[in-house]
Amino acid sequence: MSQLYQGIPREEIPWFPMINPKLCDDCLKCLEFCPHDVYEAVEGKLEVARPFNCPVGCSRCQAVCPPNAIHFMERRDLNMLLQQLRRQRAGM
Ligand code: SF4
Ligand code: SF4
Repeated sequence: MSQLYQGIPREEIPWFPMINPKLCDDCLKCLEFCPHDVYEAVEGKLEVARPFNCPVGCSRCQAVCPPNAIHFMERRDLNMLLQQLRRQRAGM
């Protein structure tokens, strides 16, 4: 069974790090920092291997990326989406 966040299946919530490949130099500092095993190095290249391991709302690794290559969806959009998903489930 999938993990739930506020009663919503985690996979329905697109909160995870997005990497700008033009800025990322594969230094892997984010991988070393993340305590939730979200990242993986494949032949030295960074991959967001387990995006849904990222707790909704965490963005801590952004601060350790020297070229500022890590981004997340806007928090305002996240809150709107959560409201919408909660409403949908309440109406089920
Ligand atoms: S935001 Fe937090 S959990 Fe998500 S990848 Fe970064 S450090 Fe890991
Ligand atoms: S810390 Fe930034 S530059 Fe380094 S691997 Fe992660 S995303 Fe790429």
